[in-house]
Formats: sequence, structure tokens, C-alpha cells
Amino acid sequence: WNISEPLSRFFFVDQKILYNRFWLNLGDFETVGFAFNSSFDLYSVDMLRGPDGELPAKLRSVEPYLIERITNEIMNKMPDVRWEDIAGLQYAKKCVTEMVVWPLLRPDIFKGCRSPERGLLLFGPPGTGKTMIGKAIAGEAKATFFYISASSVLGKWMGESEKLVRALFGVASCHQPAVIFVDEIDSLLSRRSDGEHDITRRIKTQFLIEMEGCDTGSEQILVIGEARATNRPQDLDEAARRRLTKRLYIPLPSSEARAWIVRNLLEKDGLFKLSTEDIDSICKSTEGSDMKNLVKDASMGPLREAFKQGIKISKLKKEDMRAVTLQDFENALQEVRPSVSLNELGSYEDWNNQFGSFS
Ligand code: ADP
Repeated sequence: WNISEPLSRFFFVDQKILYNRFWLNLGDFETVGFAFNSSFDLYSVDMLRGPDGELPAKLRSVEPYLIERITNEIMNKMPDVRWEDIAGLQYAKKCVTEMVVWPLLRPDIFKGCRSPERGLLLFGPPGTGKTMIGKAIAGEAKATFFYISASSVLGKWMGESEKLVRALFGVASCHQPAVIFVDEIDSLLSRRSDGEHDITRRIKTQFLIEMEGCDTGSEQILVIGEARATNRPQDLDEAARRRLTKRLYIPLPSSEARAWIVRNLLEKDGLFKLSTEDIDSICKSTEGSDMKNLVKDASMGPLREAFKQGIKISKLKKEDMRAVTLQDFENALQEVRPSVSLNELGSYEDWNNQFGSFS
């Protein structure tokens, strides 16, 4: 193995942690994949220590294993998404650039009446590019990106979620400017209800405390919440809504944006052979569809056909595979249901009229 510099540091600093990490994560392909893909670019908590051997004040009461898990699993130093990777959404891009990207790039001139927004809510149907916008904000602002989903906080991290939330903001403050993206924030910070579990309430309180800390301090940390169909923004706690000062509706992609997404996703894998007429026809029938899921399903068409013809997938040669066709999209449209109903769209628009920052 070609042990990269961070690993060798990590390895010799604490062999036990490395060993434990691999055993703990054997079932977690994403994490192991990440570790391998980045040539063992694992971070140790020791990398955050100052010359005096001390951790930054915010992290002193945080358990080291949490700091390491956040750094290795949740943090992504400057994602490589840029505005030009996102189709359409010109208005959202323009607003977000002024509201949050410029302030992260130039904190010195975004003071007083130009003081920046600390929280941004992106809401709308699933699969419309909200996560991409979050990554592009971090990419454009040269910020460190932290991605956390409410389902992981309430699932895999349950039991230590409160500590995790504290650690997350602590690590982010050591990697400023930072963007913390919270997927499905509406289920994490939903309105208080009588039947609410104690632990859920505590996580929510911790989150709001940390967000408040970002508001008052001079920290360069932007929190982006994402809210989508199943847990609608209507369910968001009022205190959370107030802290997410800008709320931007990310609608379904326009016909041109849908064409762009189809072409882009297929071209990436060298599978694009559709004619302009085919693309037009796909765009006409895909209003309301989750485009990524649709392209994914359509791209299975050639494989399904080969399998039907009795060709073993293990023996299938890449060069013998046919391109993805209009028929594959028509078949996929039978399988992949629209991700949002007209009814749901209406309720986003109502919420946008009531609480959105822009009409
Ligand atoms: P959301 O966070 O809104 O659920 P994502 O940002 O995760 O959606 O988008 C899912 C996928 O769909 C992306 O990885 C991308 O391939 C595609 N996609 C969705 N919207 C766009 C867009 N406007 N431009 C380019 N790709 C998009």
C-alpha cells in the first residue's frame, strides 16, 4: 500500500483508532469507500491540536472519537460543484450568491447593514437540486462543507445525537468558512408536539442553541436547511424558521433544465445518443418527475434488454451494449412515479407566499 501522508500520520499517531474505525465501519460501504477513494485521507483529532498540544476551546469538551467521525464522515473540504453544474434556477443562484456566497468570501465588507444571513432554508420537491445548491455554495465560497441528514441524526447517531450536534458545530468552527447542510431539517426541527420524545426535544434544543451561537458570534458558519415533500416546511418549528432567515423555494425544473439534466447525466457515463426530437419528447412527458431517478431507471434499459435476450450480465461486454433510447425513457416513466403531486406543489407555493423570502 502506498500510505499517504495523512494516513501515515494517523497510523502512527493512533493505530488503535484506525483499527477500530475499520472494524466499526465494515458494514458501512460509503465510509470504507470514502476512506479508500481518498487514499486513506483520514484525519486524526491530533491534527486539530495547536502547537501547545491543546485542542481549540470549542472542542475541549467534545469526545475525540466524535471529532474524528465528523471530520472523516460528514466533512467534505470544498466540494467540486459549481454554479455551471446546476441547470436553470438562475434566480436562486443570483440570490444565493449575493446573500451567502459573497459574505463568506469577503466577511470584511459584509458588516453592519450588509451583515450576512446565517441561515438559509431551501424548500421544494425532492430531487430538484437543493443539495447541489448547498454544495455549490460551499464550492463557490471555498468553504468546508458538512452534510448531515436528519434521518442519520435520528437513526444511526441516535443515543449520541446531542453530542454529535455540539461536535459538528465545534468542528465547523475549526474549519471556517463552513457550510453545514441539514437534509430534511423539517423532521429534525419540527414543531413541538405533545407526544414528542424527550431525546428528540433535546436534539432540537441543542441544534437551536448552536445555531444561535453562530448568529451572535463572528463565526463564518452558514447553516442550510433542506425541506422537501414528505415533511413539508409547514412542519418547521417557529424558532427554527426564525433562525433560517432566508427561505428560498426551489421549484421543479423547467423543460430546458430537464433536457440539460438528462443530457448531462447520460454524457457523464458516455451513454448519450438521443436526438433533439427524443429529448423534446422526454421533456414534454416529465413534468413533476424526479429526473435523476428517471435517468437512472432509463439507463437500466439496455441491461434489462440484454438480460431478457439471455445474455449473462457478468459476460456482457461494454462495447456491445446499446445506447439509452427514447423507449427506455418511456418505460422508465411507467415505473418512476412523479415525485410530487399538484396538491403538494400548491402547498409549497402557499408556504412560499407566506414565509418565503422571495416571490
Ligand atoms: P434535492 O436535494 O433537491 O433532493 P439533489 O440536489 O440531491 O436534490 O439532486 C438530485 C440529483 O438530481 C443531482 O445529483 C443531479 O444529478 C440532479 N439534479 C437535480 N436538479 C438539478 C439541476 N437543477 N441541475 C443539475 N442537476 C440536477
